[in-house]
Amino acid sequence: MDSIFQRISGSPNADQWHRYRCSAERFRRLTEAVQALGLTVNSLDSADSAVPSARILDASGVLCVAESSARCPSPFRQSPGEYSLAFTSDRGAASEVSRWLGERLEQAPANESEAQRSSRLLTLLQDHERQAWLELECVVLRSAQAFNQLDLEGEPLFSSLSRLVEELLEPELFEVEMTNPSEFWPGRESGWTWQHASQLEYAIPAILTPRLQRLLHRRERVLYVEDLAAAPDVQLAGSSRGSLFRSAFLLPMLGGAQLLGIIKLLYARTLCPLAGEVEALEVLRRELSLYLDRTRTLVRMQRMAMVDGLTNLFNHRFFRDQLRTEFQRAVRYQKSMALIMIDIDDFKGYNDTYGHLAGDRVLAETACTIRGSVRDIDFVARYGGEEFALILPEVDAQSGLIVAEKIRKTVEAQRFISEDGEMIGSITVSCGVTDNRDAASPDVLIERADRALYWVKRHGRNLVRLASESDHE
Ligand code: GH3
Ligand code: MG
Ligand code: MG
Repeated sequence: MDSIFQRISGSPNADQWHRYRCSAERFRRLTEAVQALGLTVNSLDSADSAVPSARILDASGVLCVAESSARCPSPFRQSPGEYSLAFTSDRGAASEVSRWLGERLEQAPANESEAQRSSRLLTLLQDHERQAWLELECVVLRSAQAFNQLDLEGEPLFSSLSRLVEELLEPELFEVEMTNPSEFWPGRESGWTWQHASQLEYAIPAILTPRLQRLLHRRERVLYVEDLAAAPDVQLAGSSRGSLFRSAFLLPMLGGAQLLGIIKLLYARTLCPLAGEVEALEVLRRELSLYLDRTRTLVRMQRMAMVDGLTNLFNHRFFRDQLRTEFQRAVRYQKSMALIMIDIDDFKGYNDTYGHLAGDRVLAETACTIRGSVRDIDFVARYGGEEFALILPEVDAQSGLIVAEKIRKTVEAQRFISEDGEMIGSITVSCGVTDNRDAASPDVLIERADRALYWVKRHGRNLVRLASESDHE
C-alpha cells in the first residue's frame, strides 16, 4: 500500500494514533517548535515523491510521521493542508511503523528530563492537532452560516447548496434527494432529485435502497462508503458503477425526527477521511439540516399566506396581487386577458337545508371542479365566501364566456354526496365575464364582471353573462 496513513488506519494499533492534516506553513512552525525542544526533524523534501515520505520526528518515545495529503486524500477541498500527520506515544504502535519505515526507534528516555521533553512534545503535537481541526470546523461553520443568511426555495436553494458543497468539498457528483421535494420547490414530485456533476459522464442517479435510507434515518450521522463496488445498497445507473465512482459520503438531513432528505457526495477516488474530517462533515450535516428544516417551515407559511385553507385555491389577497401583475403584463405585451367572477346561487338556502358542514364540502368540491375545468396557467382564487375569481391570460371575453359556460354546466350536473354516502343535493352558479379591452385598471375588470354577475342574479341565476353597458338594467 502506498500511503503510510492507510497502513496506520488498517493496523491493529490504529486507535493509538492521532491523525490530522497540516498546512506547509503550520508544519514549518511545528518543526521550529520541535527543534527548540532540542529534537531533530528529518527532512520532508520528498513529500511528493512516489515513496511514502514518512519521517521520524522524535526519538524520545513519541513518533510523528508525515506524508503528502495527495497520497491519502481528504474529502475537504479546504482541508487544513498539504501534509497528513500522525503521531503516537504508544511504543508498540510506534515501533510497528518505524519497522515499515526501516528506521530504528531509539531507546525509551532514560532520565527524567528526557521524559519531560517527551511530554512537552506530545502536548505540542496535541495543540497543533486541535488547532488544525478547529480551523477546519471554522471553515465549515463560516460557509454554512453564510448560507443560512439566505432565504431560498426552489432552484436558487438547490443551486446555492451545490455551490456551497462544491466550495468545501470536491465530489464528482453532488445529488440531493428530498423526501417531499415540493416542500422546498413547489411542483417538484417525489422521486425528483437535484444533481450537480463535475463532468457530464458523472451525471447519473445514485439510487439508495429503502433499507439504506432507513439506516441513514436511524443513524442520524454522516456515513462514509469506502468501496462503492462492494455496496449493493447504492445503485448506480449503468454497469459502470465500480469504475466511475469509488467512494461516497451520505448525509441524512433531519428535521426533528423526520428524514427531510439525503445529500449524496460521490467521488471517483478513494478518500482517506480522518476522524476530524468526518466530524466536520457532521457539523455541515447538522447546519444544513437546520437550514432545510427552517426553509420548509418558511415555505409552508408563505404558502399558507397565499392559499385558502378550505378550498386550496389562492386567497383574495393573492388574487389581487396576481390580477395586477397579469393586467400589467397584458398591457405590456398587448395581449388580452379575461376575468370570470363566479357566485354560488342561493348558498344560504343550501346551508339552511343541508347544514354548514355539507356546505363546506360543496365549496371544496366546487373549487376542484373549477380548477379542473381550466388550463394550468389560469389562475383560480376563492374571492370570498361562496365566490370565486378566475384570471385567464391571453383569453378574450368571448372565449372566457365559453369557459364560464363550461363551468356552469359542469357544476349544475354535479351531485354531491356526504362522507356517509348520503345525497346532499346540487347547486348552480352565476358567472360574470369580462376582458381587459378599454379597461384602465384591474379594478375596472372586477367592477365590470361583478355588474354582469349581479345582472344574472336579478335575472334568474344559473347563467353566464358578458359584461356590457346594459348591466345596470
Ligand atoms: P345568491 O344566489 O344571491 O348569491 O344567494 P346566496 O345565499 O348565495 O348569497 P348570500 O350572499 O345571501 O349568502 C352567501 C352564503 O354563503 C351565506 C353564507 O353562510 C354562505 N357561505 C359563505 N362562506 C361559506 C363557507 O365557508 N362555508 C359555508 N358552509 N357557507 C358559506
Ligand atoms: Mg355571494
Ligand atoms: Mg351566492
